[in-house]
Amino acid sequence: MRTDSRKMFMDVILKWMPNPLEPAEEDCWAPEMERATPEKIKEIQSEKLEAAFRYIYEYSPYYSEKYKKAGLTPKDIKSIDDLHKIPVTNKDDMRKSIAAHPPWGNFSCIDEKLWKTDGWIVFLTTGTSGAPVPVRHTQFDRVSQSWHLARQWWMSDIKSDDFVMYCVPFTTHIHAWIHYTAQETARIPMLGAGAPVATEARIDYIEKYKPTVLVGTPTYMIYLGETMKNKGIDPRATSVRIISCAGEAGGSLLQTRRRLMDLWNADVGDLFGTTEAGGVGGHAQMCIYEMKDHGRHGRLHYAEDAGIPEILDPDTLEPLPEGEFGTLAWSGVSSIAQPILRFNIKDIANIKSIECGCGRTMRMSEGGIVGRADDMIVIRGVNVFPTNIEEAVRDIDGFGNEYRIKIVEERGLPDLIVETEIVPDVPEKDHANLVNELQAKIKDKCQIRVSIEVVPFGSLPRSEFKAKRVMDLRETGRFRT
Ligand SMILES: [Zn+2]
Repeated sequence: MRTDSRKMFMDVILKWMPNPLEPAEEDCWAPEMERATPEKIKEIQSEKLEAAFRYIYEYSPYYSEKYKKAGLTPKDIKSIDDLHKIPVTNKDDMRKSIAAHPPWGNFSCIDEKLWKTDGWIVFLTTGTSGAPVPVRHTQFDRVSQSWHLARQWWMSDIKSDDFVMYCVPFTTHIHAWIHYTAQETARIPMLGAGAPVATEARIDYIEKYKPTVLVGTPTYMIYLGETMKNKGIDPRATSVRIISCAGEAGGSLLQTRRRLMDLWNADVGDLFGTTEAGGVGGHAQMCIYEMKDHGRHGRLHYAEDAGIPEILDPDTLEPLPEGEFGTLAWSGVSSIAQPILRFNIKDIANIKSIECGCGRTMRMSEGGIVGRADDMIVIRGVNVFPTNIEEAVRDIDGFGNEYRIKIVEERGLPDLIVETEIVPDVPEKDHANLVNELQAKIKDKCQIRVSIEVVPFGSLPRSEFKAKRVMDLRETGRFRT
C-alpha cells in the first residue's frame, strides 16, 4: 500500500513531463504545458494534488497527524476545488517537527531507505529568521526539477548558445545548485563564480571569458557594474546581454530594472522560489517579453504545472480575489522528498490572468515579491515595505543605489529614517532639493512623511547576497530582512 502511493505519485509527475530531454520549439520547451488552457492547468493540478495528498498522508508522519486532526482522509482531496480543506502550514511547523525529531524532522516524505538509495542533496534555508531548516532532495527530484527549470531558462531566452556566470555562491543554499542541474538538462554552459570569488576577479572573468548572462541579486549586479565603471570599464560594452536577478526583492521593480538595463545595456530577468516548498520549478520566472522595459513593474509567470499558487489574506489566511496582494502560499506537487501543501511563504505578491506578449498562459505575479510579510513595517497605521522605499530612491537621478531604513522611536511611536547616498557629481547646493524630492515621492507612495539622512557616498554597506536594509533601533539595533 505504502509503495503504491509513492509509485502512483511518481507516475503522475512523469505523466506531465512532456519533452523531458529537449525543447519542442525554439522559443517554448513544452508548449502543451506553457500554453495550456485554464481548464487543462486545473486538470494537471488536480491530478497531482490528489496523488500528492495521498502520498504525504502515508509517508509524512508530521503532516499525516496534522491532516488526521483536521478530519481529512485521502478520499476528501480529489481536485483543486478541495484545496481549501487542507490546513495552511508554515516554517514553524517544520521547526517543531525538527525539534521533536532532530536533525531532519519528520515533516518530509523521505525516509532513510529512500535517502540511501535515491538521495541527491540537502539544502538549508538561509535562516534569516531562526535556525536553518534542512530539506533533502532525491535523484528523482533532481530530474523533475531540472526539467522544470530548464523550461524556465528557455522562457527567459537563456539557451545553449549562452554562457552563464553565477555571482551567487554554491553553498548550502538551493539557488545555484538547482539552476546548475537545469543547465545540464538544457545544455547551457556556465561558470560558477560565486563567493569566495571576489568582485575584482569576476570583472576579470567578464572581460576574459565573455559570459552572456550574469546571475545574482539586483543589488550586487548594480554594485558589480558600478565597480567596473569606476575602473574605467564600460559594462554596456561587455558581452553580457542578460542580467538574471534572484535572491531578493527588486528584480521586478521598474526603477531597479531601469538602473540595471541602463548600466549593463541588457535585458533584466527575475525569479523567485522557496527552499521549504520543495524548490521544484522555482515558483515564478520572467519570460523574455517581460524582461524588456514596458514602462511598468515586471511580471513573472507562475510555474502552475509544478505547483499551485494561492494568495491569502495574511491575517485570516482566506484566499483573496485574483489581482489582490496578500501572502503567497505554494503547494509543491512535483517533488518526492518534499511535496508540501499550502505552505505559507509569507512573501507578499499577487496573481493574475494576463494575456502575455510571449503567448504563455500561466498566470502572473505583477511586480514579483513586494516584500516579506515579516519585513512589513507598520508606521502610524500604514504598511511600508523596504521595496516601497527602494522604488522612490532609485526613481530619482542623483541618488546612489544603496539605502537603509532605520526604525526609531519618536515620542513613544515608531518613526522611519531613510539613509541614502548622493552621487559625487551632484553639487552640494542641490542636495536639499533632492532630499525634498525623495521625501515627496515617499509621501506619495507610502502616505507617510519620513526623515532623510544623506550619508557620504560609499559609506552604506554593499552586499553580495540578500542585502540587509532595515535596522530596528527600537530594540537592540539588530538588522532585519
Ligand atoms: Zn510571458
